[in-house]
Amino acid sequence: MQLYTKILIGLVLGVICGFMANVLGIDWLQNFFISLEPVGDAFIRAITMIVVPLVVASLMVGTASLGDLTKLGRIGGKTVAYYMCTTAVAVTFGLLISNVVRPGGRVDPETRDSLSAEFDADAEGAVALADEAPGVVDTLVNLIPNNPIQAAAELDLLPLIFFTILFAAAVSAIAPARREAVITFFEGINDACMVVIRWIMVTAPYAVFAIIAAVVARFGIDLLQSLLIYTVTVAAGLLLHGLITYGLAVKFLAGLKFFPFLKNVSNAPLVAFSTSSSSATLPVTMETAEDRVGVSKPVSSFVLPLGATINMDGTALYQAVAVMFIAQIYGLPLSLMDQLIVVLTATLASIGAAGVPSAGIITLIIVLNAVGLGAHVQAGIALILGVDRILDMIRTAVNVTGDLTAASVVARSEGETLELRPAGARKREREAAEQERVTAGVSGGG
Ligand code: ASP
Repeated sequence: MQLYTKILIGLVLGVICGFMANVLGIDWLQNFFISLEPVGDAFIRAITMIVVPLVVASLMVGTASLGDLTKLGRIGGKTVAYYMCTTAVAVTFGLLISNVVRPGGRVDPETRDSLSAEFDADAEGAVALADEAPGVVDTLVNLIPNNPIQAAAELDLLPLIFFTILFAAAVSAIAPARREAVITFFEGINDACMVVIRWIMVTAPYAVFAIIAAVVARFGIDLLQSLLIYTVTVAAGLLLHGLITYGLAVKFLAGLKFFPFLKNVSNAPLVAFSTSSSSATLPVTMETAEDRVGVSKPVSSFVLPLGATINMDGTALYQAVAVMFIAQIYGLPLSLMDQLIVVLTATLASIGAAGVPSAGIITLIIVLNAVGLGAHVQAGIALILGVDRILDMIRTAVNVTGDLTAASVVARSEGETLELRPAGARKREREAAEQERVTAGVSGGG
């Protein structure tokens, strides 16, 4: 059985078990599933553990093997432009669907106020976190790390990417004998990281079951009822963006059939859904792009870590719906101009959001302030906080699918031949070819 089938089974069973315990109100069962949380945490820690070694090693190998650094500049330009465009499209989808459905027009003021009161303390914490966020200039200056080891220790990927690319460029400029030694070293590290990822992924179906069963067992189903239309609107927007935008991009820009593509890469969105973190999923995303689609290392090692940090279409779309929902619920309609501001600020806010759980609801505060909803920030955030975890899962799966689509599009635009292959097929072929080379060398030498 393919790994993604096993993960899917874990996920569905997790939903069923958690849901049964929750709706039937069986306390001991609910507590049992909640007590499985450490299993999920262990898995998330294990895949997160490999992010830094993998990003550094693969970016070193990828950049140094490019030879021509102008190519990296070109890939970078294309990637950022593609990311910005698809995110703006995602926000537009979010705005369109919330104008049509008007989810905020369907919640009565009592439900609104009781939900806001219930989550008031949590919302206060989120607002305080948003206040601490650095401004645009600081964000740009912070791209240059004071200390690359500190950036790595804090999983601060953008400064780490900056340092590694600079370092790899320097390696390209040193004497060939030394350069080869450095590249061979990092190739070894990269291959070992891939082996560790495959080992960890063997446990994914069980971990996914534990994570999902605990989340669903803990979830306030009654909250979902009050915010059902809002939740469904966000989910429908995400589905539309996933099918239409990514469907068209994969077919026409990457030259691959969309549904087979989706099936072949589904490990990554499934892990993203379960962990709610693009950064934690990054090792799986990179392995999937290279192994299953055939994206080259220079492209995958650059486009995917950047995407996990700055490309969040799902988050941006969710922010658009959330802003419209809050505006509608407080009877403060947003003009066309306000909605254009939402396109701009939600695109930027999603870039600023880290690839970790709940990051999107904190940067949502920037968007709410930008369209003059400042007075309702805390109450508005409190209102939607109760269903945020479930929406975080869906939007993170979309974010990661967007990253994989981008890697395929950029690879194809660089003239690479992409082909969907089963797990491990490329690795086995590479190993067989290497073996043949060694044998030929031995017999040739004898
Ligand atoms: N959890 C999301 C991610 O990691 C970010 C967010 O929307 O909260 O991509």
